[in-house]
Amino acid sequence: MSAKIIDGTAIAEQVRAQVAREVAARLEAGLSQPGLATVLVGENPASAQYVRMKQKNCEKVGIKSFGQILPADISQAELEKVVSDLNASPEVNGILVQLPLPKGLDEERVLNTISINKDVDGFHPVNIGRLAQKGRKPQFVPCTPDGCIYLIDAMGVPIEGASAVVLGRSNIVGMPVALLLVERNATVTICHSRSKDLPGICREADILIAAVGRPEMVRRDWVKPGAIVIDVGSNRVEDPTTEKGYRWVGDVAFDEVKEVAGALTPSPGGVGPMTIAMLLRNTLRAAQLADNM
Ligand code: NDP
Repeated sequence: MSAKIIDGTAIAEQVRAQVAREVAARLEAGLSQPGLATVLVGENPASAQYVRMKQKNCEKVGIKSFGQILPADISQAELEKVVSDLNASPEVNGILVQLPLPKGLDEERVLNTISINKDVDGFHPVNIGRLAQKGRKPQFVPCTPDGCIYLIDAMGVPIEGASAVVLGRSNIVGMPVALLLVERNATVTICHSRSKDLPGICREADILIAAVGRPEMVRRDWVKPGAIVIDVGSNRVEDPTTEKGYRWVGDVAFDEVKEVAGALTPSPGGVGPMTIAMLLRNTLRAAQLADNM
């Protein structure tokens, strides 16, 4: 058996095109142009690259982007003031503070400062708290976990009643994706670095989500035949045979697992593009929320 390969790039493009159509329709109807503010603190090159990608994607779909680049030695109070000013700006519908923040800054307090109605990354403690409570709806859910669920739905795989295993319990991927699966009535097992018998637990999964940051950890014999496998991992590994001397791999041994899974995301080209597509969708939703306030 060979798995269906889930083309995250193509699915993300469909989401982006839909957002672009809705933004154009808003403008035609005389409504405001959605706006996303990105806040980058310090000079982490990977963070700077992510922010540039997000801004470029905004432009492509007609979302206005406002970039704030702040020095790494900014004080907590100054950073919170920047966020508060963005909360007050009617042109800004979504605020994204690029994580991680430089040492010395309190991430939780900064996230707490973002208005929950502009929290397009979905990391505000109130939005995460609502996600964890039965019957409560967050204004926004985090983009990478949302992208994982979107891909499962796009493949027509039922979530309700499924046995799901999430490898990883981070605040930004593992835990929120597990909460989203519970909300959709899956039965969820969350694994982490102290879990025992990972292969045995994973083999029970109809839906397996890997978000551990360990190159190609999930092997063929970890996967139940026919399961859907979503590989969030994005790991740089040395490879002297390539021009750059490295390549990117996921947390799943793609070539092995594709022989047994029912459907599988590649990495790169799976979850990664979905993260930005979900951010654009959330920003559009934030503008729609603002229309009704
Ligand atoms: P973190 O390092 O924050 O969390 C990793 C999680 O995996 C932790 O819960 C950790 O357990 C667990 N873990 C680590 N090693 C093992 C192991 N050997 N066995 C079992 N569990 C283990 O990572 P993130 O959640 O931020 O990211 C995970 C991966 O996803 C990375 O490769 C990252 O690059 C990628 N990523 C991709 C995104 C995208 O858009 N495609 C976005 C965000 C992340 P414990 O809690 O016990 O420490």
